Amino acid sequence: MKKDGLITILILVGLVGGAILGQVLHGNSADPVATGERWMDLGKIVLVRPLMLLVLPLVFLSVIVGVTSIGDPSRLGVVGGTTLVYYFGTMIAAVVLGAVLVTTIAPGEGLPADAVASLQSQGAAEYQENTGLRGAMDTASDKGLGGAWMSILEQVIPTNFFAELANRRTLGVIVFALLLGLALASIGEAGAPAIATLRSLFDGTMRLVLWILWLTPIGVFLLVTGTVAKIGFGSLVGPLGAYMITVLVGLAIHAFITLPTVLALFGRVNPYRFMLRMRKALLTAFGTDSSSATLPVTIETAIDQGGCSKRSSNFVLPLGATVNMDGTALYEAVAVVFMFQLWGIELGVGELVIVVVTATLAAVGAAGIPSAGLVTMVIVVAAVNTSLAGRGIQPLPLEAIGVIIGVDRILDMCRTTVNVWGDAVGARLISRLAPDDEEPAAAAA
Ligand code: ASP
Repeated sequence: MKKDGLITILILVGLVGGAILGQVLHGNSADPVATGERWMDLGKIVLVRPLMLLVLPLVFLSVIVGVTSIGDPSRLGVVGGTTLVYYFGTMIAAVVLGAVLVTTIAPGEGLPADAVASLQSQGAAEYQENTGLRGAMDTASDKGLGGAWMSILEQVIPTNFFAELANRRTLGVIVFALLLGLALASIGEAGAPAIATLRSLFDGTMRLVLWILWLTPIGVFLLVTGTVAKIGFGSLVGPLGAYMITVLVGLAIHAFITLPTVLALFGRVNPYRFMLRMRKALLTAFGTDSSSATLPVTIETAIDQGGCSKRSSNFVLPLGATVNMDGTALYEAVAVVFMFQLWGIELGVGELVIVVVTATLAAVGAAGIPSAGLVTMVIVVAAVNTSLAGRGIQPLPLEAIGVIIGVDRILDMCRTTVNVWGDAVGARLISRLAPDDEEPAAAAA
């Protein structure tokens, strides 16, 4: 059996085994939350930390390699522009779908009054307990919408490259790599040695990725065991079940219908075959809950199995892991409207439009790490609250977010998978605009 097939099977075994063991632990443990967290901590050590170690060097190297191989700045402009149009187009499609589904299914309406009251008080307690998350949310809400724009702009125009690296601000690293790559390409012969060195460093880093890939099955097993032990599948039939199902249905429609249609129409590729080829990256995203940690695997799989060009993947995927989050955008819209429904606050069309716009921004601003979408959601809530205040309507308390914290991890695994799938579809589409000279025939899926 080929190595790739073996790894995929092992990851699947890890996933299913983890789900079963997790459910058993959930039913038998005195403190399922603590048990789940212990397993998840182990999973982070085995898989997430090694992958995270590679992310920033890889982002820097792959963007430089991508840019210098595209070379011509005007061609790069076309590729970059198309990539951004694709990212924003699909994110807005996802967010609109989320808004339509949550207003039609209305998972927060019609619940018995006592169920609503107990959800609200549990949510408030959960919100108070989660000090780390609360701190991050407070900072995000203090900054507000203007602050969110400002912080994206500041990341796009960084002042200290090493501070960007140290603070894991990938956007700044991408911008610097992009500019340096353009400059190296424009100085001709003088730039050649640096480009050759960076390419060989990139190839070496990718070899490290291949080694770390062997940790994926065990890492996924530990992480899934922890998540299921903590939350349990029973949550799907609890009072939050309808909310969770709304998110999952939205993600499924976006992943299995919207994105495949875009890929089939504009990429002339069989989307489901491509999805199968990208399975290693998709399963890793599901297990690690982080599109950033998955990035090394996404790049490797896109180039080696997905038939994406190196030129496209090296440039489109790092950017995608940072800004393109279809799953997160959709989830934010559903979650926010659900909370307003639960608190009995009716949103007008104007507020829904605010949700669509700010959820897209909040998804762009979310880092590719677990629960990032939950934190940036406060931006959406604050913007809707401002509009409600203008109409003299009582705002939604921030502690409402506590209601959905408990079940977030399972939804996060699913939305992260859709985030990575969206990036992969982008890389495959852009491969048409930026093919490798030596593109293998097998690439035409
Ligand atoms: N975990 C997600 C990701 O890494 C971000 C989020 O929605 O929380 O893509």
